[in-house]
Amino acid sequence: MHENYVGRFAPSPSGQLHFGSLVTAVASYLDARHHNGKWLVRMEDIDEPRCISGVDKDILTTLEKHGLCWDDEVIYQSQQHARYQDKLDELISQQRAYFCTCTRKQIKAMGGQYNGHCRDKGYTVSTEGTAIRLKLDTSLEGFNDVIMGNVAVPLQTSRAEDAVLKRRDGLFSYNLVVVLDDVFQHVTHIIRGCDLIDVTALQRAVYGELGFSMPTYGHVPVASVAPGRKLSKQNRATPINNLTPLENLVRAMRFFGFSFPDATAFENVSVLLNYAISVWDRKKVVKTPEIIVPQHESTYYSEPL
Ligand SMILES: [Zn+2]
Repeated sequence: MHENYVGRFAPSPSGQLHFGSLVTAVASYLDARHHNGKWLVRMEDIDEPRCISGVDKDILTTLEKHGLCWDDEVIYQSQQHARYQDKLDELISQQRAYFCTCTRKQIKAMGGQYNGHCRDKGYTVSTEGTAIRLKLDTSLEGFNDVIMGNVAVPLQTSRAEDAVLKRRDGLFSYNLVVVLDDVFQHVTHIIRGCDLIDVTALQRAVYGELGFSMPTYGHVPVASVAPGRKLSKQNRATPINNLTPLENLVRAMRFFGFSFPDATAFENVSVLLNYAISVWDRKKVVKTPEIIVPQHESTYYSEPL
């Protein structure tokens, strides 16, 4: 029953789940289960300096308390470095990836878009201060998003710039590891927040260049405290209260635009989730990139002037 759908939720353990990350988890879970799919959880702890020890366990506890039970083992990006490096080494030896010394300042001087400056410079692993880039001789293309509909690429960014695979500070880039991990885990459907809709065209170009078949994408609205400011640890979103899972799940469903019964209508989370799985409908999800949530979803307050 699982063959055609593998979905995933990929939180970063830099802070506990808040309402904004819970709604994303709920959407990917319901979309997977509604289609009789598998649902995986992956810890995106590639940016290790930002991760807080123990938060991964808090996240998993919150998912469990909300009945969001995952399939297979949770994988941690921090434990996958050898696999990422193998791929990089292969791409470099095939001359499909190369070392680049350009700084942010130099790229700004190119007009903000990297122009392939270091492609033929012949830098090697011993050159200091290098990033690794993937050669992309392609244009960015729009795509069909199963929730938001057709997503176009703005004309001025339609040429793909050579994607950074490893950053100058030595960290593997998100655009590399997200693609490699989704391929590694056989993910077929990526349901995630609209905050990532803009990087999707580039990730798809990376899929194409690496010769992988592309997954299906669906982006759901993100919860924001003000236009352009998504709920996040940085603006002091409060962690989800694990003592009120029914209420939290009802609020998540209403956030997406479903008319949903009150929490008192459900005996427990599994009854509620079964009902939610049955009524989940991509067409009913509000087609807007962000939804401003009421103040009580967050302890957010603006910085004093
Ligand atoms: Zn360069």
